[in-house]
Amino acid sequence: MYSTKSAYTAQFADGQRSSFRSLIWKIWAPGKIKMFLWFLHQGKLWCNDRLQRRGWENGYFCPLCMRNLESSFHLFWECPISLKVWNHAAAWAGCQALNPAGWLSETTSTGCANRITAAAAPRYH
Ligand SMILES: [Zn+2]
Repeated sequence: MYSTKSAYTAQFADGQRSSFRSLIWKIWAPGKIKMFLWFLHQGKLWCNDRLQRRGWENGYFCPLCMRNLESSFHLFWECPISLKVWNHAAAWAGCQALNPAGWLSETTSTGCANRITAAAAPRYH
């Protein structure tokens, strides 16, 4: 019998419910979003840090805060403007998994996303 619980169980049957990497290709989202998340996971988004490493023209600074070198990690998980957005999203959605306090000790996008998915994963008792 189909139920929400059975759908979640099937979704996470591989035992990697907290793995961002394993969830990227399973989520319901357009392909371009999945590709974007995959590049985020791989650290291959074309941000200024990556352009700079290749000696390519870049604007150096984060366009949101104008204080730090723009990197995908900074943009998503570290920038004070992004952290405000995450805080608002957590409050709006009533989902504490989105609160930055849960991942501030992480140093990679995958680590941060794993913290979110682990905290937001359904729990059965
Ligand atoms: Zn910034």
